[in-house]
Formats: sequence, structure tokens, C-alpha cells
Amino acid sequence: MPNNDHQDLILPEGCDTCAAKTGSGKTRRDFLKLLGQATVVLTAARFGASAAGATETPPAEAHVAEQWDLHKWGMAVDVEKCIGCGRCVVACKAENSVPKEPTYFRTWVERYREYEDDVVVDSPNGGYDGFPADDGGRTPDRAFFVPKLCNHCDKAPCVQVCPVGATFKTPDGAVLVDASYCIGCRYCIQACPYGARYLNPVTQTADKCTLCYHRIHKGLKPACVENCPTGARIFGDLKDPNDPLRKYLHDHKVFVLKQQLNTYPKVFYYGIDKEVR
Ligand code: SF4
Ligand code: SF4
Repeated sequence: MPNNDHQDLILPEGCDTCAAKTGSGKTRRDFLKLLGQATVVLTAARFGASAAGATETPPAEAHVAEQWDLHKWGMAVDVEKCIGCGRCVVACKAENSVPKEPTYFRTWVERYREYEDDVVVDSPNGGYDGFPADDGGRTPDRAFFVPKLCNHCDKAPCVQVCPVGATFKTPDGAVLVDASYCIGCRYCIQACPYGARYLNPVTQTADKCTLCYHRIHKGLKPACVENCPTGARIFGDLKDPNDPLRKYLHDHKVFVLKQQLNTYPKVFYYGIDKEVR
């Protein structure tokens, strides 16, 4: 279903949970400040050599915490450019210490093979190792790869069901988990219609894509974007009229996943068809 409403998503919107006081008396803003401080050293150390080896360019002007509500982060995925190499999956796991086991992913890649009367979808090890060329003896009418991740929904079911407010939306539109408040009840994992969450086996708290929040607040791109060799992932600021992401969305007919659920994703897809859900 065409997403002709994405311009609506860039309208300023207040954060309905971020100002809530947490149990320790710290505000959500305090948590975000701590997150930023804790990652400054890590980010600085990564200039010049990212998780999967791509060279990073230090930002001319890093985004600062005080400007959070001036931005609204989002991503476009150009399915026609994705070659299923899996470098995004590898980079994400390394950058974010995602467990190596094939049940844990912050981002993963699915392969769709469409035949005359059938559609076969697979994602061996989440695409981490790429995809075998074997087509099962049948040549598909069309085959393509669909990278997936948390959609950072504007109306996020995971936020709505969290009983302790550990899952929340930031002023700049990212949906995050404050692990220090997560009780591991899994409600959010069950509520997410995109299968984007898992229970971290080490921390026993809910985990998922953060848009590499620690990187983007230093003016860096998310690791998956930085390491994609074809430019299939476009990250940017939906509030900035001059951002390349805005131009991309203007120039391409994009779709969101499960639009009928009214979760208002901020990940937009170009080149998918109705078989992709
Ligand atoms: S994709 Fe799932 S985890 Fe991400 S914001 Fe939406 S409901 Fe929450
Ligand atoms: S790195 Fe880019 S081309 Fe490779 S699988 Fe990921 S999105 Fe596709």
C-alpha cells in the first residue's frame, strides 16, 4: 500500500513519555544525557575504523543534546540497491554487542523469491553470512532483499504496553529502552508487530535497534548505514528540509510496513511490493 502520508510524519510532535519522572528521581532527559556522556569516548575511538572496517568521516558539526527536539530521525531503505551482502547485520552486531547467536538481531535481511504461484522468504542467520545462490531448482520471477529493523514507530505499541515506562520515545523520535528500568516482562516483545525486539540473554532486558543513538548524536551515521556498500540505507532528519533523506522521500514512492496498523513507522521502503510485510 503506498505511503503517501509520510509528510505527515515530519510534523513536530511532543514526546509523551520522555518527561516522565523515573523511579530514582531522574528524568528521562537525565538518562539520555548519561547515555550521551557514556558514549563520547567510544565514538571518538571509532573514528577512522568502524565496526566492519569502513572509514568514517568525523562530522563537521556534531549534533548536540540540547538540539534533540529540532530533529526527527528516520531511514529509507532502497530495496533495489540491496545486494544481500549482510554487511549491515555484521556491523550492527559488532557496534552494539548483539549476541552472535542467530536468534538475536537489531537488524536483519530477508530474501524474497517470487514464483508464479508462490513466494518463498528466508533469512538464514539473519543474512549475517549473506545468502546462498541456490534457488532450489526453480528460477524466481523476481528476487530481492529487504533489510529490516525497528521502525521507530511514532505510535509505538511497545511504548504503550510497557508497564514501567522503560520503553520510551525520545524528543527526536527514536524509540529506546532504559535497561535500568526494564523488568524483562516481554510485553513489548509480544506487542511489536515487526518482530524487532528480543530479550537480551545477558542483561535479561528488552533490546532492539536504537538507530545507533550513541553515534547519531555525534553526527555519525548508524553502523548499518555507514557500512552498506551500495547506499541501500539512507539515514537522516525528517525535520530538515535540506536533508538528503527528505529529498529521497520526495523523489521516491515509498511504503511503510504494515501501514494498516497505524503505527506510523519512520523507516520507509522503496522497491517492495505487497508480498513484503
Ligand atoms: S518496530 Fe516494534 S520495537 Fe520498534 S517502535 Fe515499532 S513497535 Fe516498538
Ligand atoms: S549492507 Fe547494504 S547491500 Fe548489504 S545487505 Fe545490508 S542493506 Fe543490503
